[in-house]
Amino acid sequence: MSDETPNLDELLPVDPEDPGCQATLDVFDLYVETDLSGIDPATRFPGAAAHLRSCPACRLDYDGLRAAVNAFPSNGTG
Ligand SMILES: [Zn+2]
Repeated sequence: MSDETPNLDELLPVDPEDPGCQATLDVFDLYVETDLSGIDPATRFPGAAAHLRSCPACRLDYDGLRAAVNAFPSNGTG
């Protein structure tokens, strides 16, 4: 009776808006910049926002990157 392979779809309910880790990482920089500029990044990157709500690992990376950008602001060439 060791035939009960867990169904990943049941263990990890997927938000239809959630594009996954890689797609979120692709816009990470822009997402953080948007957030730090006072704009709600969820309006520009709803997929990444949905992913960050459901992925603790990316959420942790995001918090870290956000803190790093805050600590070392760019020289304002833009
Ligand atoms: Zn993720």
